[in-house]
Amino acid sequence: MASETKTWRATVLTLFPEMFPGPLGVSLAGRALAAGLWALETRDIRDSATDRHRSVDDTPAGGGPGMVLRADVLAAAVDAAGVAPDRPRLLMSPRGRPLTQSRVMELAAGPGPLVVCGRFEGVDQRVIEARGLEEISVGDYVLSGGEIAAMALLDACVRLLPGVMGSAESGSDESFSDCLLEYPQYTRPQAFEGQSIPEILISGDHAKVAAWRLAEAEALTKVRRPDLWAVRSSQKRPKNTTDG
Ligand code: SAH
Repeated sequence: MASETKTWRATVLTLFPEMFPGPLGVSLAGRALAAGLWALETRDIRDSATDRHRSVDDTPAGGGPGMVLRADVLAAAVDAAGVAPDRPRLLMSPRGRPLTQSRVMELAAGPGPLVVCGRFEGVDQRVIEARGLEEISVGDYVLSGGEIAAMALLDACVRLLPGVMGSAESGSDESFSDCLLEYPQYTRPQAFEGQSIPEILISGDHAKVAAWRLAEAEALTKVRRPDLWAVRSSQKRPKNTTDG
């Protein structure tokens, strides 16, 4: 199928195209970009401005501080990007659904998204609806623009693309797979400031190592992320028990 051979592609709409590829141009993501394992297209929203001053924002209707990205300009920018209908259209937004590893995995498995980066006080509500933008948040805090949020999202996706990470397995054991945080990691030296690596990890007993890691991951998740633990517990309920 043609879609299987197509390169995963990110199209970013931003007022600051010079911020890209930025951190996505180095290390794992950068090497993968240079190797053609994914493609990045950055488009300047301002190119879709129509007036003499190339303005992209205006004051909020109803009053209040700051400026709002205009619906007509942003809609024109989305349309000009000409993304195929099967590609997700995302808007980075603190009001969006919090980004999760499972959504990242879905996005990485698809053709690659269009990502709109907001600025100022945000974007006119009408364009979100008119262009079917899915709002995604990277956490309960407010950034000054969507670019860093978009980079976080794209970085998380790109490392999952085929051929990007060294070992095909290095994604499967990580934090959030199976609603667990990752177990503690250790490496040489064996002794560090009076602390040694847990004995079991150098025992060579793979079954015991696996059991220890699972127990550590579970303990950590229970304490640090009761929300994840609750989801995991509800998923892991044995099939032969009944609720009643
Ligand atoms: N006034 C808005 C915040 C605007 S911040 C509000 O209170 O909700 C400006 C832009 O930064 C947003 O349009 C969005 O694109 C981006 N942004 C800020 N915080 C973000 C977050 N936590 N996740 C994703 N994008 C965010």
